[in-house]
Amino acid sequence: MNVIGHFINGSIRQDEERIQDVYNPATGAATKKVALASVKTVNEAIAAAQAAFPEWRNTPPIKRARVMFRFKELLEKNADAICEAIGDEHGKICHDAAGELQRGIENVEYACGIPELLKGEHNKNVGPNIDSWSEFQPLGVVAGITPFNFPAMVPLWMFPMAIACGNTFVLKPSERDPSAGLLLAQLLKEAGLPDGVMNVVNGDKEAVDVLLSHADVKGVSFVGSTAIAEYIYSTATANGKRCQALGGAKNHAIVMPDADIDNAVNQLMGAAFGSSGERCMALSVVLAVGDAAADALIAKASEAMKSLEMGVCTDKNNDFGPVITRQHQQKVVGYITSAEEDGATIVVDGRKIQVEGYENGFFVGATLIDNVKSTMTSYKEEIFGPVLQVMRVNSMEEAMQLINDHEYGNGTCIFTRDGEAARYFSDNIQVGMVGINIPLPVPVAYHSFGGWKRSLFGDLHAYGPDAVRFYTKRKTITQRWPSADVREGTTFSMPTME
Ligand code: NAD
Repeated sequence: MNVIGHFINGSIRQDEERIQDVYNPATGAATKKVALASVKTVNEAIAAAQAAFPEWRNTPPIKRARVMFRFKELLEKNADAICEAIGDEHGKICHDAAGELQRGIENVEYACGIPELLKGEHNKNVGPNIDSWSEFQPLGVVAGITPFNFPAMVPLWMFPMAIACGNTFVLKPSERDPSAGLLLAQLLKEAGLPDGVMNVVNGDKEAVDVLLSHADVKGVSFVGSTAIAEYIYSTATANGKRCQALGGAKNHAIVMPDADIDNAVNQLMGAAFGSSGERCMALSVVLAVGDAAADALIAKASEAMKSLEMGVCTDKNNDFGPVITRQHQQKVVGYITSAEEDGATIVVDGRKIQVEGYENGFFVGATLIDNVKSTMTSYKEEIFGPVLQVMRVNSMEEAMQLINDHEYGNGTCIFTRDGEAARYFSDNIQVGMVGINIPLPVPVAYHSFGGWKRSLFGDLHAYGPDAVRFYTKRKTITQRWPSADVREGTTFSMPTME
């Protein structure tokens, strides 16, 4: 069986290393193997990136942008192959994989504007014959550590902008779906990127720990679960690196009594069950204000769920696929059972559903749970599966309090026809990304993406304008060219413009 390796200094590599199975989640079969990089392999990737840095740093931004233009075209041309790899290893349906890739490509499009984005700030005559400007210089070698749930999009949040800014990069994709990252790196090479600028090491904690401790790695971008994000952030920053670490989520939607319930239910179906709920922006909790809204929502949602199609990624009529592993399937089922044991009502139960012909797949059917309480484990923790929980509340204030009290603050949304309520909500809610009648408020590539509270460790959000700041260091230069016949006197007080 072919072993998925690494991409170092422009070549695919697979050394004698630990090997792990990669599963097709729809069949439940181990169909591929991935090499788990050793310390030596990661050191080699960092060395390749470090060696490529001086020349790439000095490559004019317009030439770096041209590589990104060609990369965008190649991504579009090879979209089917990338989506197929995502489908095989992640299990998401082809239209969902295409959507993921498209959102990733939009980050490449944004990176194509790097000459404009890197423009500094300039002031003439900050003093007599003195000019001052700030410029934004690349950090050096930057690492990206990414989760399984967006094997193309999340890496594309990181490396196009990091590389366009003049950095060199080492990507450590999820070992559960490692092929997409390698494909992206090979296409970058085809787009004309010099060897060593982009490297990929597949692997696990052993590889990550090298990236977190190596002196030549100057910045770390991480996306994954909160426990690991916290570890990455504390370790990387303790080692003097710049770090942004995006973590898990529990995203609530408030459904107000005046909301258009049919519209809310249509929107919630995709936001809760799309990609089997394995999105950090998946809507997993509905706070229904008043019993009338809750009853209508439960009735319409359970009706709508009857027509959801779950199955294999290649059938575009399917709405969502399996979850990522057998272990994760059992974990999701365990959360549903714990909610039941804690006294919640299972309205639609996806625990025992099977897909014909794919009986060994890691499927969990769409599940709807009513009468959830804030003390329940299923409410407190991220489930990351196709499970929508409904909590009944009496007011918008009570709903907002629950959201603000939750440890996560990634995304949230309100369904209402009341502009004043929506404005109050967006102004006061303690969450980083807010939707108003928009259930998945994932910012477009020219804004930035990030949660609050324990959904993000660090200051700057991912992609968009924040990425230009994250992947560069500000340098401020103050310059005087005195005339040959002018001599400035010595001054011992702090220079001012008095
Ligand atoms: P994960 O935290 O298990 O893994 C993420 C990455 O960290 C992988 O590359 C993995 O190999 C590595 N890793 C895992 N354990 C490690 C350890 N002990 N030490 C060092 N590295 C380690 O996350 P996942 O299961 O792949 O992805 C799902 C999670 O990611 C969910 O919690 C989801 O909410 C979150 N996520 C967040 C965002 C966001 O933008 N906030 C986006 C996507 C996913």
